This record gives sequence, structure tokens and C-alpha cells, in this order.
Amino acid sequence: MYQHPFKRHQTKEVSVGGVIIGGDNPIRVQSMTTTDTFDVDGTVAQIKRLEEAGCELVRVTVPKPEDAAALGEIRKRIGIPLICDIHFDYKMALAALDQPVDKIRINPGNIGGYDRFRQVIRKAKERGLPMRIGVNAGSLEKELVEKYGFPCPPAMVESALRYIEIAESEGYDQMIVSLKSSDVMTAVEAYRLYAKQGSYPTHLGITEAGKPPYAIVKSAAGLSPLLIDGIGDTIRISLLGDPVPEIQAAFDILQATGRRIRRPELIACPTCGRLAIDLEKIVAELEQRLAGRQTAVKISVLGCVVNGPGEAKEADIGIAAGNGKGVIFRNGEIVRHVVEAEMVDALLEEVDLWEKTHGDQ
Ligand code: SF4
Repeated sequence: MYQHPFKRHQTKEVSVGGVIIGGDNPIRVQSMTTTDTFDVDGTVAQIKRLEEAGCELVRVTVPKPEDAAALGEIRKRIGIPLICDIHFDYKMALAALDQPVDKIRINPGNIGGYDRFRQVIRKAKERGLPMRIGVNAGSLEKELVEKYGFPCPPAMVESALRYIEIAESEGYDQMIVSLKSSDVMTAVEAYRLYAKQGSYPTHLGITEAGKPPYAIVKSAAGLSPLLIDGIGDTIRISLLGDPVPEIQAAFDILQATGRRIRRPELIACPTCGRLAIDLEKIVAELEQRLAGRQTAVKISVLGCVVNGPGEAKEADIGIAAGNGKGVIFRNGEIVRHVVEAEMVDALLEEVDLWEKTHGDQ
């Protein structure tokens, strides 16, 4: 049988508060709070909502000493690893590393030079904490922008590799790398270029993607080619506003690219003049009644005989509909005939059976 030639970029494993990033581990979904970090109650409440949505790692900004001071209390009250995000002030990085955090993210282009970077690395090493080297096209070192003329992918990768080399010279190897840009082509090229040379895990994202729904489409346009190339060990979908919808968007992109399946995949046609059943109603009911199931099963529900039987045979469970009735397929074999009113119940019975025989995959 044909097999997709998928190969995951081989990366080292890095533990972030017990969640392993890289290697063959699942691609982890993360987000970032929008609250003032020193507002412990507000920050914890937002993280709890992110956790409920499925967020696996959370990042908070630490621009001031009072934010650093709040980290311990926040971490005590949440159930996922806490990452502190530092820009500009290496002293804030050092202060945050004094707190019980699980990882630090710094932007090497704006941390104040190599010497300050080394001080942060030494402290992270001493604390046994991982670090994300978060290169961003918008804040690349001046020197590299001058060398390349603009913040292009080779400049971004050179920046990342340069800081990796410095960290390694300090005997530090707990790194995760990101090469974000608000421009899709720049980000895709930068991550591809890095994957040819680097073996630290990557955190993927299209930065400043803007407002949903366009921001989700833009993120999917940038992340999907990389995920399909096997690149990416954690992802964040940057959406303007409440961060909670970022989680569903991230899992949807992972699901659509086949990188991490967390719910049944419903294949439904757009409908047209040949429609032989009320497909919209059937799919809406199916979606509602399948909500919360994590089974990796492909269910095909098409509206007529044009593609219905072909798709139904290819799916794990499928229905080929025609004139108010349908034929149900399981693993490509016909298992029963149903009328339209029985379709949803019959498909759900098939899903139950699938779960019993395949487990909750
Ligand atoms: Fe139209 Fe049938 Fe195709 Fe659905 S499967 S879009 S109803 S031709």
C-alpha cells in the first residue's frame, strides 16, 4: 500500500517541566497570556482557561521586577509548565531565573549583546532550565541586518546558530529554537534552512498574524508546509485578543496536517445540486454528538453517489448516500443499509464499535 514519504526532522529531546519537546514526542501546543503577569489572580484565571482548552505549555511576559516576583505563586496554582518571556533586559532574565519557572524564552537580538547572553545562559545552566532562542525577523541584530541588507531567512538562521554556538561553548544544550516572522515565506524558508543545519527542537509560529479568522488561515499557510516537512516540535498560533481560541486553532492545524490527531476526522462534501440527503443537518448532528471524543477515526459523509462510495470505502467508516438512504462502509466493506433518519445513530454505533476494537488512539 502507498505510504506518504513523511520523515520528521530529527531533534534532541528537551524537557520543559516534565513535558518532553522534540524527538518523536507529540508536537506540543502552547500559548501566551495577555494579562499583566503581576496580576496573579487574572493571570492564573486565564491560564486555567487555556489549560481547559488543551494548552500544554504557557508563557507569560516578565518586563518588570513585580512580574518576576509573581512567577512562583502563578506556577503553584497552575497545572502546566510555566515559561517566562524576556525582552531587552538581561537583568529581568536573571531575576526570572531565580523564580521556580520551567523555561525561559529570550530574544537574542535584543538582550544586549553576547556577554549578557552568556550570563543568562550560565544562570539557566546552573538552574538546569531549558531556554528558547527566539529569533524574530523584526528584532534581528543590526549587524546581521546590515550584512544581508534586510532580515532575510539566512540572516535569521545565522543569528540562531551564532547564539547556539555561544551557548554550547558554555556547555549548555537545553535549547529550543524559533525563527518567527510575520511574513509566511520568510518564516517557512528560515525554519527549512535551520532544519538542514540544526538539531535543537523548533517552536513554530507566524508572529503577529493578526485577527482571526484571517490570522488562523495565515498561520495555517505558514505552519502546514513545515509540519508536512516534519519540522516543528511545539507550535503557537498568535491571535489578536483572547488567547484561548489559539488552542483550538493549533490543534486544528495539527489535525489537518495529520501531525497530531485528537478527534474524529469528518469528511463531508460542500454539497451541490446533486445532493440526495440533508447533509448539513446530518453533519451538524454528528459533530455535536462526537464532541469530546478523541478517537482517531476517519468518517466520510458525502451527499450523493458521485464521490460517496469511493470516499466511504477509503475512510474507516463511511456512508454513501442516495435518495434518502445510504450504505454504510467499515474498512471499505459494506456493513449495513440505512434510511436517512437512521444515518447519524448508525454512524455513531459504528464509531462505538471502532473505539472498542481500536481503543482510544
Ligand atoms: Fe455534490 Fe455529490 Fe459531490 Fe456532494 S458528493 S458535492 S452532493 S456531487
